[in-house]
Amino acid sequence: MRIRFILLGLVALTTFRAHAQYVGAFAPPNVGDTPIKISEHVWGVYGFPNIGIVVGAAGVLIVDTGLGPRNGAAVAKIAEKLAPHRKLYLTTTHFHPEHAAGDAGFPKNTILIRNRVQQQELELHGQEMIAMFAGRNDAQKQLLSDVALRKPDVLFDNEYNLDLGGIVAHLLWYGGAHTKGDEMVFVDPDKTLISGDVVQNKVVPNIFGDGGTPASWINVLKKTQALNAQHVLPDHSPASDGSLVALELTFISELRTRALELKQQGLPVEEAGDRLTAEFKQRYSDWPINSVANFVKSIYTE
Ligand SMILES: [Zn+2]
Ligand SMILES: [Zn+2]
Repeated sequence: MRIRFILLGLVALTTFRAHAQYVGAFAPPNVGDTPIKISEHVWGVYGFPNIGIVVGAAGVLIVDTGLGPRNGAAVAKIAEKLAPHRKLYLTTTHFHPEHAAGDAGFPKNTILIRNRVQQQELELHGQEMIAMFAGRNDAQKQLLSDVALRKPDVLFDNEYNLDLGGIVAHLLWYGGAHTKGDEMVFVDPDKTLISGDVVQNKVVPNIFGDGGTPASWINVLKKTQALNAQHVLPDHSPASDGSLVALELTFISELRTRALELKQQGLPVEEAGDRLTAEFKQRYSDWPINSVANFVKSIYTE
């Protein structure tokens, strides 16, 4: 028992350190500058947010832009250095400004691809999110002062298969999770999943505004499991192996089951948030959990 306790403590400490190092590796609100190899054709640049770069013989796909055009330009430069003289493609994991508001910084001939639901969400709520992010501090205000959102060159419904020369990037829309238009990219033959905010590395999930629901998020994760990913690059936490998908599914399913039990018993949502925060801090002691109250609210109002 004692040894088990010490081991759990060690795991918690290691995870905490990994996350602390990860967060310390860049200065928000900017993208990073060092590509890290995730798999044979996929690179990640840790920053706010993490950027995915998928390199084929003929084309390069960049996943997410960074906050504002200056970050977008920095990302395009990193990709050009990593894999010069290739056709450039861009997609975005969801419409929030640090993921999608930097497209004007990319070269003019970049092909912008995203799913239709995300595009609708961007047109509906994009400007209000940009205003909200700009209102947070001067740095973000400056970075967002010259946003000029482009019209996508390609819109797709559920899946778009992009041949980059020797490899295929599957751009996927499986349904609502963190937002309605969450997109993921699965790279063949690497079996690497660029998972946006849908699958994270031990980060409490969050549904923003009228995004998805906890139930739709679970559905998305079940479909994602069938991909059998071996590497996962999330947007706001360090990359790891395919086990992150099952871990995310377990966390959300358990939290949903417990919250619905408490709702059934008539416990007010605030009390349920407090109680389940304490409970999940214990249950997931290697996750840096502040609070699960927001997600409990999403479950109560589902
Ligand atoms: Zn987001
Ligand atoms: Zn995000």
